[in-house]
Amino acid sequence: MCRRTINAKADRLKKNYRVILLSQTQALVIGDHDTYDVTKLSYRWSCNCPWGLHRGRWTECSHVGAVRQALLDPDSQAPVARLADLLKQANRERESA
Ligand SMILES: [Zn+2]
Repeated sequence: MCRRTINAKADRLKKNYRVILLSQTQALVIGDHDTYDVTKLSYRWSCNCPWGLHRGRWTECSHVGAVRQALLDPDSQAPVARLADLLKQANRERESA
C-alpha cells in the first residue's frame, strides 16, 4: 500500500467518525475489518492491526494517521464523543468494582 493510499484511507476513517479518543494517549479506531487499539508509547503511536504490528515501525498505518488527524481536529469527534464517555465510565466502574 503506498503512502497516498494510506493517507486517503486515514482521511476516510476520520470523515466517517470512526476514531474514538479514550485519552490523549489511547484511542480506538473502527476499521473496515476490526476495531484496533492505537496507543501512544512515549513519543510514538503504535497500532495492533496487522500492518501496524509488522510495518508500523517504519510506516504508520492508516489508523494512527486517523488518530493524529482526530487529535488535531477534535470537532470531528462529536458523533463518537458520547460513546467515548460511556466507555471511560465503564472502565472506571470496572476498576472500582
Ligand atoms: Zn493500524
